[in-house]
Formats: sequence, structure tokens, C-alpha cells
Amino acid sequence: MNLPSDPDVVVVGAGAAGVAATRRLMEAGRSVVVLEARGRVGGRAFTDIATTPYPLDLGCEWLHSADRNPLSEVAYRLGLTIDRSPPPWDRPTLRASMNKSGQREFYKAIDRFYARVDAAARAPLDRKASELLEPGCRWNGLIDAVSTYINGVELDRVSVFDGDNYEDTETDWRIVEGYGTLIVRLGAKLPIRLNAPVERIDHSGKRIEVVTSGGSLSAGAVIVTVPTDVIASGAIRFIPDLPRKREAAAHLPLGVADKVFFALDGADEFEPDTNLYGATDRAATGNYYLRISGRPMLETFFGGGLARELEKGGLPAFTDFALTELTGVMGSAFRTRLRPILATAWAADAYALGSYSHALPGHADERAVLAAPIDDRIFFAGEACSRRQFSTAHGAYRSGNKAANAVLKRVRSAAGAS
Ligand SMILES: Cc1cc2nc3c(=O)[nH]c(=O)nc-3n(C[C@H](O)[C@H](O)[C@H](O)COP(=O)(O)OP(=O)(O)OC[C@H]3O[C@@H](n4cnc5c(N)ncnc54)[C@H](O)[C@@H]3O)c2cc1C
Repeated sequence: MNLPSDPDVVVVGAGAAGVAATRRLMEAGRSVVVLEARGRVGGRAFTDIATTPYPLDLGCEWLHSADRNPLSEVAYRLGLTIDRSPPPWDRPTLRASMNKSGQREFYKAIDRFYARVDAAARAPLDRKASELLEPGCRWNGLIDAVSTYINGVELDRVSVFDGDNYEDTETDWRIVEGYGTLIVRLGAKLPIRLNAPVERIDHSGKRIEVVTSGGSLSAGAVIVTVPTDVIASGAIRFIPDLPRKREAAAHLPLGVADKVFFALDGADEFEPDTNLYGATDRAATGNYYLRISGRPMLETFFGGGLARELEKGGLPAFTDFALTELTGVMGSAFRTRLRPILATAWAADAYALGSYSHALPGHADERAVLAAPIDDRIFFAGEACSRRQFSTAHGAYRSGNKAANAVLKRVRSAAGAS
């Protein structure tokens, strides 16, 4: 595809936000070029279709708030298959990992915790969510573990206000062909230049110069959709500098969540999507989904400090940890039924530097600071810009549409003024 060197708009990043923004701008007749650092479209939406006969979502997998998620409708329109069966975390946990009365007690304890978060969100001052754990409660470790899956960090790094802002209808569906596949399909035929990491955005002149190692483009407006840790790291230099953006991004860091996939012999012994916790008394534990999506596989979710640590040792470290926990629950023979397939490493990924954003305590309002345009010509989008759907692919998608609409509004008002 021949891409213009002076489009109306340059979009930086071809994840869910960048793809949404580009489609919206093109529908409105604007010329756009997307500069994407990776050799593929989708960013943190990535379906691996090469490793097993089953599509594996290495990033986003669940259409959260699926009954209100705009991407549910988009997936349906594109002919993808939606699986509406309940997720593992909404099913009974395997009794070997937690007996029935334990499960009842845990659900009551976590409900009480969230009720306290809800009440604390109405106070004038923000707090660490960990301050709302019930002193001495036997389930505190597991409630913290759940935070590492949801937020990518332990509760002492989570803002009560931000957590309370998150909108969730608690309906979770999946796309059989993969969530990453959906974003790739949405990105098909868009004017995307791959392997083009942006190094500099110079907005000192009348037009904005966007510089990659392979050359530069000039544009009237730019939409930046890269993850917060990439902005905070200074990997993209703004001229003049935008220190307040870097500061806001640093207050909205990405937590870490990683997945490990295993082939599982004799998976039919389990109900599809059976839930299992490696331990029930600590934050540093894996969440295991047996016979995930009915496949002969085990999918494991690690989050927070544990994921960050295990990533350093790659697949062997994740496998060792998982096998120790699993044999502790299922008995030593279970080890022989598992064959490791792959582990993700989102923190080590230079173009993500983590999995999804959370606001540090006291900084929930920084999402609006991050999302605010500069001089009505540098716009920001991406999951971290969403006040109520942060950390999700649909939050990213909506923020991309919103930024594109803001660009179009500015173009219309500029045309009206001339
Ligand atoms: C393990 C894991 C599980 C998840 N599970 C779910 C889930 O079940 N449901 C859900 O809704 N969400 C989930 N998410 C979160 C979801 O994937 C993200 O919120 C969403 O995909 C983010 O989209 P985005 O467009 O904001 O950012 P990204 O997808 O990160 O897109 C930004 C793009 O910018 C590119 N980029 C970076 N630096 C540069 C540069 N210098 N120049 C040019 N391009 C650059 C990146 O390569 C990337 O393609 C999960 C994420 C992970 C990692």
C-alpha cells in the first residue's frame, strides 16, 4: 500500500484504540497513516494461531461487560463466533482446591471487601485498596491474588477511587477465533506501516513532524495510543516536551498479568472451564483454568509481583511454579499429565511494558489528564484514557473513537473559521 507522507492525521500504534480511531477518521474521509512499532496489528490483543490447533489469546481474551461491549456487536457482524458460556471464575472452584463452605466464605469475604471499597469511594480522600482488607480475615491473601489478576498489582498499589470507577456488568463472553483475531480483522486494509517505532513527535512547527528510524511524516494532527509505560519511559520524545503527560502516564502504570498454556492429558475428567486456585492464603498464587473452552488444555493466569518475578525465568520458571502448586492440590501424578506450551512475558515486551493500567492511590483523576489533547492537535487514546473501562480492549476501542471524533470536531471548526 502506498501511504501518503503528509496525511491529515498520524495515528501512533495499531492496537484496539489505534484501529478504532483510524476507521472512524477514514469513514469521515480523512487521510490517515498509522505507525506501528511491531510487525503485526493488535498490540495487547494478540491471538496466536501458529502454536496449537486452537487459537490462543495471549493478551485480551474476554469480552468483559459483553452485553454492553461494542465489540460484541462488531464481532458478530464480522461473522466471528461468540461463546457465551460462563467464565471459570463464575463457576464452582474445584473442591480439591477449596471446599464448598470455603468457597461460600470466600465469596462473602470478597463481597464485603468490595462493599467497603464502594463506601470508601464516597469519602473525600482516596486510599490504597489494601487498607480496606478486614484485619485478620483468612481470605485476605486470595482477595489480594484476585487483585493481581484484575489489576496486575497487589491492592496496596490500587486506588480505591479508580477501582470504584471501573464499570462491569459481570457478563463475560469470548470469541472462539480469538479476541486478537477480531482486532486484526478490524485493522485489515487500513493504511498501517508496520515495524515503524515512533521516536519523536515534533509539534514546534505549523505541521507536526512524526519521526521513525525509517523516515518522517508530517501531519495536521496526531493520535498517540501507546501504553502508559511507553509514554512514561520517554521512548517517544515530544518536542517541545510534555512533562505533565509523562507524569500522568507514570501515575497510571501497567500492572503485569501473564498466561501460561499447558496441554492436559485426560482433560475430559473435568467440566469445561473448571476453576482452581494454587493456594487460598496468599497473593502469590496462580489461577488455573482446567479444560479451558472445552479444549484439552490448562490455562494459567499469574499476576502482580509473582508474574513479574517468574517472567525473568521464562517458561521453565512459570512451569516449575505451576507444577509445584498443582501437584500440591491434585497429587504428584498430575505432573505427568501436563506439557508446557508457552508463557507470555508482557512486562518484558518493549512495546507494552506490562499488561493493563491501574491508577496509583491518589491518582485516579490522572486518566483525564492523560486523555486531554494538547493544543487541539495532539490527541491521546488507549485503555488508560478510559475513566470507566480502563484496562480493557473495549475501553481502548471506545477511547480511539472518542479521540477520532475530537480530531474531526477540530477539523470542522477550523474549516468553519477559515
Ligand atoms: C495477559 C492480558 C490479558 C488481558 N485480558 C483482557 C481481557 O480478557 N479482556 C479485555 O478487554 N482486555 C484484556 N486485556 C487488556 C487489553 O488487551 C488492552 O487493554 C487493550 O488491548 C489495549 O489496547 P490499546 O490500543 O490501548 O493498547 P495496545 O494494544 O498496547 O496498542 C498500542 C500499540 O502501540 C504500539 N507502540 C508502542 N510503542 C510504539 C512506538 N514507539 N511507535 C509506534 N507504535 C508503538 C504497540 O506495539 C501497540 O500495537 C488483557 C491484556 C493482557 C496483557
